[in-house]
Amino acid sequence: MTAQNDAVIIVGAGQAGAQAAQSLRQGGYAGPITMVGEEAFLPYERPPLSKDYLAGKRDAERLFLRKADFWTSRGVEVLTGRRVVAVDRPAGAVMLDNGACLSYGHLVWTAGGRPRRLTCDGCGLEGIHYIRSIADIDRLKAEVDGGARRVVVIGGGYIGLEMAAVLRLSGHAVTVLEAQDRLLARVTSPPVSSYFLAMHRARGVDVHLSASVAGLEEAGGRVCAVRLAGGEVFPTDLVIVGIGIVPNVQPLADAGLHCPDGVAVDEYCRTDDPRILAAGDCALHHNSFADRPIRLESVQNAIDQSKTLAATILGNPVPYRAVPWFWSHQYEVKIQSVGLSGGHDRMLLRGRPEDGAFSVAYLRDERLIALDCIGVTRDFIQGKAIVAAGGRVDPVRLPDPATELRDAVID
Ligand code: NAP
Repeated sequence: MTAQNDAVIIVGAGQAGAQAAQSLRQGGYAGPITMVGEEAFLPYERPPLSKDYLAGKRDAERLFLRKADFWTSRGVEVLTGRRVVAVDRPAGAVMLDNGACLSYGHLVWTAGGRPRRLTCDGCGLEGIHYIRSIADIDRLKAEVDGGARRVVVIGGGYIGLEMAAVLRLSGHAVTVLEAQDRLLARVTSPPVSSYFLAMHRARGVDVHLSASVAGLEEAGGRVCAVRLAGGEVFPTDLVIVGIGIVPNVQPLADAGLHCPDGVAVDEYCRTDDPRILAAGDCALHHNSFADRPIRLESVQNAIDQSKTLAATILGNPVPYRAVPWFWSHQYEVKIQSVGLSGGHDRMLLRGRPEDGAFSVAYLRDERLIALDCIGVTRDFIQGKAIVAAGGRVDPVRLPDPATELRDAVID
């Protein structure tokens, strides 16, 4: 196929892929768009999986981003249950797992990531659950509803803790084993980690930090216990593993693109190949709020980068400059974070953790670069604007929760 081909092939039918298709059509793109997704479903929201979907408060129908007729009416073909296994850059084509070949003018890579797997003894046993998809939660729910009572969660990140909260609320005996010396270590600071540790322990979750999993033990072909390197053994009916994700970029790496940790893209979401763009969890990008190339594993990033990518294809390139933000719900507590705290030189507490409503502000050179807000949406909203503007803040006024956050801004 030649460079005149106007077909866009989108690999990955998650939040990023769906947004790319939508933004292309909204921007007037008239060529064929095909979205290829490995799962059996049309694009859906993942955040509720480890919260309301697991809790049974939301059914699968209400996870879908759009109904089927939205895609058909906009001329977006969605191929579900299909995986791209190879990219032929000279030919401008992708190969699918069923042997089919699709040619592209632009290739949009929004393939996300897959759960990082355990590699210890017993890692292949029945009763070990990884969480990324509707099917993963359905499999887990079948066991939970079928009588499993004790649950060991490996990994104290967002996945592990959100799952622990839901299962604890439904009366399960939950143990969390985290390798680091604090919870949520990848995403937040020690005071917030301590708050979440105390909260889970107060709810009866048995949390172990600096826990090095040595193996999983078997009874009748199923996992029956988790063994730590120190010899401690935790009997269980099932294991949930939330130890991070691995970006899905192998076909791009095989095709010669630079994929050190995800696929490298510039601020317009372009890879080294001008016909291939990427967005979302798998895109290693220069972020103006970070001092190194990063991947951002968040819905907000998936949406905003896909808008950037669509604008690039449409010929109106606008650099990606969105302020990162994240949220999590555990029990009745909501944490909302804005900005990236890496590289802060000062940390200030606003409010008291023991009151259940506080924020942690991260400063660099007196400027607010990030904020974690626990139960204080007001701070989060004001903080977003301040972080976006790179606002300098008064370190004396900022810690006082009686002062509006925006009133602590100096310039
Ligand atoms: P994560 O945030 O990377 O946390 C995983 C944690 O498990 C890390 O602290 C990790 O430590 C630890 N760990 C790694 N290997 C371990 C082992 N063998 N034993 C015990 N602990 C181990 O990843 P996640 O919680 O699995 O989340 C997966 C993805 O879903 C991420 O993209 C996440 O952002 C997303 N997600 C987001 C939300 C939200 O935003 N609310 C909710 C759910 C999921 P090391 O850092 O040392 O590896």
